Amino acid sequence: MSHIHPKTTPIYQTSVFAFDDLNALERYFSEPAGQSYMYTRYGNPNTDELAQKVNALEEGAGAVVTSSGMSAILAVLLAVCKAGDHVLCAEEIYGGSSSLLSQELTRMGIEVAYVPMEGIYSLQKYIRPETKLLLAETMSNPLLQVLDVERLAQETKQHDIKLVIDNTFATPVLTRPLALGADVVIHSVTKYLSGHSDVTAGVVICKEQEALQRVQKVMMTYGLNLSPFEGWLAARGLKTLCLRMKQHCSNALEIARYLQQHPKVEQVWYPGLEDHPQHKLAKKQGQDMFGGVLSFRIKDETEVVNRFMQALQNIPFAPSLAGVDSSISYPAGTSHRSFSDELRQRQGITTGVIRFSVGIEEPELLIADLEQALAQV
Ligand SMILES: *Cc1c(COP(=O)(O)O)cnc(C)c1O
Repeated sequence: MSHIHPKTTPIYQTSVFAFDDLNALERYFSEPAGQSYMYTRYGNPNTDELAQKVNALEEGAGAVVTSSGMSAILAVLLAVCKAGDHVLCAEEIYGGSSSLLSQELTRMGIEVAYVPMEGIYSLQKYIRPETKLLLAETMSNPLLQVLDVERLAQETKQHDIKLVIDNTFATPVLTRPLALGADVVIHSVTKYLSGHSDVTAGVVICKEQEALQRVQKVMMTYGLNLSPFEGWLAARGLKTLCLRMKQHCSNALEIARYLQQHPKVEQVWYPGLEDHPQHKLAKKQGQDMFGGVLSFRIKDETEVVNRFMQALQNIPFAPSLAGVDSSISYPAGTSHRSFSDELRQRQGITTGVIRFSVGIEEPELLIADLEQALAQV
């Protein structure tokens, strides 16, 4: 079949690969350039294609794809930590990440301390001899605080701990954390990298081979691998990442400005607005782009939020983000449900806060829908 040259990678929907004989088996183990596949849990052309493409975008030494963003975070933590170790985590973090750390990994003897935004560049008082890493997000969810990755990397290096950056919201189109000094980058591929709300996947990109091999081993041994079809879908989505991000970002900026002047909107969080506390940093670190997610607050009453959601005609309430179609989410009831009331209040995630994942539709259509829905609350 050597005369067949498909333009795109076919889907290798197989769980196992056959060997010609024992010599071929030996070549699999001894020659990296020989037959490269044995069993899909260890590796598959579709998941490898995705890993290589994301690695190139993030400028890493290599990448490992996983079954979800959560399993990507788990793989990094298990690759680096053992029972008795201690990790630091930014306080404003994806709810799943904090549940994993606080509720599950503590049961396995890995302890966690949360660092508030104010203390993130001076870690001394949080560091213990057993501290191994700091997990933080380039842009936090849902209030879009932007971290200075370069400054953070200088701080983690001083304390000899690894910096793990969840770059899901920024994507490598805006920010490449490894180039700024981070050691490991993770993504929920479910979000912008695949981009069409039809895949659940994750990826870990490492700066060094040694860390990469540990992550690979954990992925294989714990069975955190991605399926070939999901790998294929994500690799397809990735082809338009750059185009999509430009439209997400320009739409989000236009909508942030619109919401900011609306009398029924009390606050808007978007790094592209001049009054955002890290606007200058975001501009520099994001190549003049600010991402596709913004949050805004209407009246702090469940009833009002509910009426607003019911009034929207083309923007569904769907607790995820980053699809080509816009959606809104409700952090207090979904991603941050497991947080205590007190912590949510302290972070500013009150009853009226709505997160908007701005899609790539024509912006006028989105603004028209928001306009009529806000008129009804
Ligand atoms: C969604 C998300 C995750 C988890 O990813 P899944 O693919 O849902 O497992 C982790 N971090 C961030 C910032 C996310 O938005």
